[in-house]
Amino acid sequence: MDRSLSCPSCGAGLEYGEAGRTIRCPYCGTIVQVPETLWQPIEQARTVSRWTKYIILFLILTVVLPTCLGLLGTALGIGGGIFAAIVSVVVSFFAR
Ligand SMILES: [Zn+2]
Repeated sequence: MDRSLSCPSCGAGLEYGEAGRTIRCPYCGTIVQVPETLWQPIEQARTVSRWTKYIILFLILTVVLPTCLGLLGTALGIGGGIFAAIVSVVVSFFAR
């Protein structure tokens, strides 16, 4: 893809660095509109990567987190059971 532009004011060659829909000519300071064919594929790629991020976050919140909390709950339940058994043994030992 050709990413070179030329300034309409001074004719200098400009390099499009994927930064928005306009670029400023470094020679004369003119704001140059970047053609749609240059910025559109880049913005689409950005939108896709943003949605991928949201989907991963959604999966973490709906699948990974409940699974971890479920496992934590199970572990706490087992731990609590063992703790209660130890406490009851200690209590019955001292209660004699
Ligand atoms: Zn210029």
